[in-house]
Order: sequence, then C-alpha cells, then structure tokens
Amino acid sequence: MNKPVDAALTVPLWIGGKPSGSASSRAGEVTNPATGAVTKRVPLCDAADIDAAVKAAQAAYPEWRDAPPLRRARVMQRFLQLLQQEQKALARIVTEEHGKTLPDAMGSVQRGIEVVEFACGIPQLLKGEHSENVGSGVDTHTVRQPVGVCAGITPFNFPVMVPLWMFPVAIACGNTFVLKPSEKVPSASIRMAELFREAGLPDGVFNVVHGDKEAVDAILAHPGINAVSFVGSTPIAKYIYETCARHGKRVQALGGAKNHAVVLPDADLEFAADALIGAAYGSAGERCMAISAVVAVGAAADPLVGLLKEKAAAIKVGPGERDGVDMGPLVTKAHRDKVKGYVDLGAKEGAKLVVDGRGLAVEGHEDGFFLGTTLFDDVTPRMRIYQDEIFGPVLIVLRVQTLEEAIALVNANPYANGTAIFTESGGAARRFENEIQVGMVGINVPIPVPVAFYSFGGWKGSLFGDLHVHGVEGVKFYTRTKAVTVRWPHQDTPAPGLNMPTLG
Ligand code: NAD
Repeated sequence: MNKPVDAALTVPLWIGGKPSGSASSRAGEVTNPATGAVTKRVPLCDAADIDAAVKAAQAAYPEWRDAPPLRRARVMQRFLQLLQQEQKALARIVTEEHGKTLPDAMGSVQRGIEVVEFACGIPQLLKGEHSENVGSGVDTHTVRQPVGVCAGITPFNFPVMVPLWMFPVAIACGNTFVLKPSEKVPSASIRMAELFREAGLPDGVFNVVHGDKEAVDAILAHPGINAVSFVGSTPIAKYIYETCARHGKRVQALGGAKNHAVVLPDADLEFAADALIGAAYGSAGERCMAISAVVAVGAAADPLVGLLKEKAAAIKVGPGERDGVDMGPLVTKAHRDKVKGYVDLGAKEGAKLVVDGRGLAVEGHEDGFFLGTTLFDDVTPRMRIYQDEIFGPVLIVLRVQTLEEAIALVNANPYANGTAIFTESGGAARRFENEIQVGMVGINVPIPVPVAFYSFGGWKGSLFGDLHVHGVEGVKFYTRTKAVTVRWPHQDTPAPGLNMPTLG
C-alpha cells in the first residue's frame, strides 16, 4: 500500500501572483507512473476557488489590457529566457508525473517554448488595417482588442506544451488567464507561474487552479470568464463546446484522435516503418497526434508488417529518466488497465496479434504502469480497436487495395486530427492532400504538428469551434476586432441627413 503523502507535498493553486491553498475539502493523488508511488496531493477546486482566481484575473485586467503591446512583449521575452534556462527541470517534472522519457519530455517543452517565441512578436501580430477615403473625407481602421478573462483546460499528456499553446498568446494579446491543468500532472503549471512572475508579469494576470469536473463546471458557468480553450478527449470537448455556447462564451475545444498513416507500395518502406514506430509508440502512444492506424495499400502490406514487427519488438521499455529507454509507462494504473483491455478485445474481435505487449515486466519497477508495444494486423473498420481512441502503445494495420480506398477509409472516420501518407509519388501525395478531410496532413512526415507560427487543430470530432490554437488563429481567438469609421467634419462637408449613409 502507498504511504500517505506529507501535507507539504500538496500542490498549491496560484492566485494573484502567489501560491494559495484551496477552500475545497476534496483532493486527488499524483503518482509517479514508473514506480506507482503516490508523490503528491492535488486539491480538487470548488466554485469558491474558481471565483477567487477569476476575481484576481478581473482585478489585473484593466492595467494589463492597457499596457503597450511592446511592454507585454518584453515580459514574454524574459519569460522565454527563463523557460529556456529551466527546460531540463520542466522536462524532469513532465517525466516524473506523466512517465514519458526525458528526451521526449525535452522535445515537448521545446515545442511549447516556441509558442512563447511566437508571442514575443505580439506588437506586429496585433496590427490592424486602415483604409483612407472609404468615402469622401471618411477613413476606416480596425483594431484587435483582448476579450477579457480567458480560461484554459488541458489534458494529461503534455503538461507543459499544451498549456503553453494557450496562455502566452492570450496574455500577450492583453487578456488575463485562469489555467486548469490536468489533475494528473499539476506541478509543471505552478512552476511556469513562478517563472512568469519572475519575468515581471503583474500579479493576477496568470492564475492556476486544479481539479476535475467540479472545477471545470465552475469555470464554464462563471460569468466573469469570456473565452475558454480546451484540449482533451472528444466527449468532454463536445460538452465544453455546448456548455460554453449556452453560457455565451467564446470557445475552442480540441478533442481526441485516430490518426491514420497511408503507406503506398512505392514508399521507402524501411523509412516509413521507422517513422511509424516513433509515431505510434513515442510517449507510449499517449499523443493526440500519435499514428494509431496504418493503412497498408496493396503490396506494401506484407513487407511493412514484417518491418513493424521487428522494430516494435525491439523497443526498450523502462522508467523515463533512465538512459537508453525508448518508451516509458502509461500515466496511471487505470489507464494502463484500460489499454490492456483493448489488447484483449482486439484478440477476441479476430484481429491478428503480431506483437503482444501484455505480460511485460520491468525489473525493479514491478508497481509501475508499464505495458509493452502491441501490433495488430488484419484489423477491419467494424472492430472496436479501430473505432475507439485507445491512447496507448497499440498500433493496428488495416489492408486496402488502392489509394482511393485508403482515402475513403480515412474520410469515413469521425476523428480528423492528423494523418500522413508515405509515397515517392508526387501525384499520389497531391491527391491525398487535396481530398483528405483532416486538419493536419503529413507527406512522408508521420506527426505533422505545425510549428508555433502556424496554427494547430483538427477537423470533425477532433475540434469543436472555428479557430485553431496558436499562430495567427490563436491571436484571432484571443482578440475581438473593432472597426472604426472616422469623419472629421470641415465647414464645407455637410452632416449626413436622414437617409442611409452611403459615403460615396
Ligand atoms: P480528458 O478529456 O479526460 O481531460 C481533459 C481535461 O478535462 C482535464 O483537465 C480534466 O480534468 C477535464 N475533465 C475530465 N473529465 C471531465 C468531465 N467529465 N467534465 C469536465 N471536465 C473534465 O483528457 P485526458 O485523458 O486528460 O487527455 C487525453 C485526451 O486528450 C485524448 O483523447 C487525446 O487525444 C486528447 N488530446 C487532444 C489534443 C488535441 O490537440 N486535439 C492534444 C492532447 C490531447
């Protein structure tokens, strides 16, 4: 049995520029997935905690909104430097609470830091438009203004990167922010709040609360919050979208995924197999852009499955901080057991189990939440291992005969986050890019996550809302456009009469 956790190891909230306790009597446990040990307690906030965070954000808003964008950018630049200095320490927190390997955690922190680099350019990004003489002596210009207090609700799989998709852009735009990270991985957000304060961010501009559905519902219903960014699973994303709409809030809700990679017979199969192995089993498959379904076309199938089998079986599984480990544990015991249940199910459904990850034991880490790599062949669309997002180290192969069939299969799936094609044919790749109904597409690139100055987001069941995160769409989400029409009357220009003004 795990020992009770020392009260000093309770993760604080961050409200008004300092650590804070919670009014709630409910708390959760944070575990180290590699050992199974409970390492910290996390308060599960109630409506009073959320209200305190929103009040701090509201109080800080008028001054921050009016701070010149250049001054806001300078705070971002100092935050950027501190994040770079602390990149390893942040990656270590990610590995301790999520389980992914340290090099993988470093990469994910780096991708988050790149959003802060993007946000440093905010004076340029906020520039409006101007037209002289839209009518005689009349000019029009637009300005982008912040929306007010914004909230972010984030998933367990990227404890640093996904929060950084949201709050640096929102805050650079002049908003104030309340972040609710996943209660499974709460510590990195508090460390980022400390660094942001050290960078000179005024108190109350960035706040962190913790919790589960109760905290989220209080955020969605709070009249002081004007915009909500969410990243997580599809059913919750849909709930967030509908509830925010009911409460009149601006919302972007990114959901789950089942990402397909189509492999044509002309592809370099060795290259494709290496790419697919990294994309399927990196971070133990707990990535929203992980490749979880391979669509092997025609003669590609047999040799590809042979290569995948050999490479999947060779992956070294162990604690994420150990050198030479390729894949760490899953985030919690419950999640590991759920993923293992899908391996049982796939075998029952009639898929061919090529590599079986069950029964893996990591010496000295018998209580860790480990599961080995699993590969299924001959999977069909009616199987649940195809239909459901498994979110673990399970790769499935479906076989089709033509590119046309492959495109139809991908387009029939309700998820549409990312997809990739492996081919040497420019014509096939162009057709795929044009016809595929998915938000992010890779051509011989297995995980096509756009860099920070482009925007990230899926289609269909992978995104509820209109605008993607970060990049120019992020700036649009966190600002409202105001169009101003200006006339400076001269003595010789008559005032408009009672008729509809046409300005001509
Ligand atoms: P989740 O949906 O369980 O939780 C996400 C957030 O919602 C957490 O902060 C959690 O506390 C909160 N939450 C959970 N249940 C809730 C409920 N009933 N009501 C209100 N709020 C609730 O997701 P997760 O398990 O933390 O993360 C994995 C999922 O996130 C996967 O489906 C993955 O594909 C998805 N994801 C998507 C993207 C993307 O960009 N599309 C990125 C990362 C992860």
